[in-house]
Amino acid sequence: MSALLSPELLARFAALVGERYAIADADAQQPFLKEWRDRYHGKTPLVLLPGTVDEVAAILKLADETDTPIVPQGGNTGLVGGQVPHAEGNELLISLKRLDKVRAVDPDSNTIDVEAGVTLQRVQEAAEAAGRFFPLTLPSEGSCTIGGNIGTNAGGTGVIAYGNTRDLVMGLEVVLPGGRIWHGMRHLRKDNTGYDLKNLFIGAEGTLGIVTAAVLKLFPRPRSVGTAFIGVDNPAAALALLNVARENGGGTVTAFELMPRIGIDFVIRHVADARDPIEGSYPWYVLLEVSTSAEGGVNEALEAMLMTAYERGYARDAVIAASLDQAADFWRLRELLSESQRFEGGSIKHDVSVPIRLVPAFLDKAIAAVEAFIPGARPLPFGHLGDGNIHFNISQPVGGDKQAFLDKWEKTNEIVHAIVAEFHGSISAEHGIGQAKRKLLPGVKDPVELEMMRAIKATLDPKGIMNPGKVL
Ligand code: FAD
Repeated sequence: MSALLSPELLARFAALVGERYAIADADAQQPFLKEWRDRYHGKTPLVLLPGTVDEVAAILKLADETDTPIVPQGGNTGLVGGQVPHAEGNELLISLKRLDKVRAVDPDSNTIDVEAGVTLQRVQEAAEAAGRFFPLTLPSEGSCTIGGNIGTNAGGTGVIAYGNTRDLVMGLEVVLPGGRIWHGMRHLRKDNTGYDLKNLFIGAEGTLGIVTAAVLKLFPRPRSVGTAFIGVDNPAAALALLNVARENGGGTVTAFELMPRIGIDFVIRHVADARDPIEGSYPWYVLLEVSTSAEGGVNEALEAMLMTAYERGYARDAVIAASLDQAADFWRLRELLSESQRFEGGSIKHDVSVPIRLVPAFLDKAIAAVEAFIPGARPLPFGHLGDGNIHFNISQPVGGDKQAFLDKWEKTNEIVHAIVAEFHGSISAEHGIGQAKRKLLPGVKDPVELEMMRAIKATLDPKGIMNPGKVL
């Protein structure tokens, strides 16, 4: 960490955005320094809110001249502490929230140009207003920003059909360390003119530069969406069901979420008016969504597909949402799984992926290992089965000591991540590395891959001032 920044230097930074947008007051800084789960608490001499790309460039130029470390932040919803300065840190926090213009929507080219601080929800709304669809969907969409989505290569529930953020970005505008602006706002579906540089900045968690705007892909709006809540015996049956749904679901599978019974129990216990969608209890559930661009017919196709699934023994019982409200109720159960764990004491979490085919075997092994390590622990693995991405969460034993359970976080991570490695998986499927998993990276990345990552970092950010101590 560099030395304390002098009041004169802080005044020079403040002058670049104007006093009103330079926050030095500790109370006013709090919303930027504490993330929503209260896990990371940062410190900064100054929060800067630039309002233009040129202001961002001026900040990075002065930061380069004075070796001042920088932390970029969007909506502050990241889950690995990448957007929060270090507790003992001296970094300036640059919030991109004021870069909030939708610059253009082009329904013919199916593109939208937005600035980094536009929230994901506003992008979805702007697309809809133009008769198009932007498919990235996260529970945090009301607060998270496109810059943060790009910084983390966010995933969510639509990945199965539309891919991660990386698959939705066509062009970028980036301010590089030193203050140069890369004008890469391309609208080209085909462009084979050398290295694909935009992909370096997607998922870089603010360690290579500041994304100030992006060109994103739009899609036709799905006209019919069918949503089913399905009881299954085990993850292997769920996987077989996924294959049947893809072949006979009557449209594109746009979500396929696996949930354990214990998770549904937690939500019903702690959330007023949450109800079991199906009578009877099953060990696992699938939330299936199928979308088509044709009018109607989707529920009939879903029903026929579910009949096939019963006959083959992949599904035990199911209900198809008869209204948008009922579909929203199904989704609420899924979305509240993680949050409802809070009412059951401490929880240890993982965000991992393995090849889709191996998810059932991975779950068997990881659940057994965790239960052996912490007797009474309650694994609650759920997530995007169609992407091989499991949020492998664990709740503490009933009546156990919360702190004693949380003290086992690191060792539990080691156990689960070792099994992930055995299954050729990833220790961070969606959320990134940030501060949370930085120390783990050297143990899981191919050494040649790490060497290339360090070389890229050293080339673009030779002084190491972009989000120091994150990722690498
Ligand atoms: P921030 O949290 O502010 O920043 C995240 C990272 O990006 C940091 O490293 C930061 O330095 C960097 N960054 C931010 N803006 C820029 C920029 N303009 N240029 C360069 N770097 C930048 N994530 C998923 O992938 N899938 C989910 O399903 C999901 N569900 C969530 C549910 C909840 C309730 C919450 C709170 C979070 C969830 N997340 C999920 C995590 C989070 O919402 C995403 O990571 C999101 O993309 C972060 O966006 P943000 O604007 O809040 O970024």
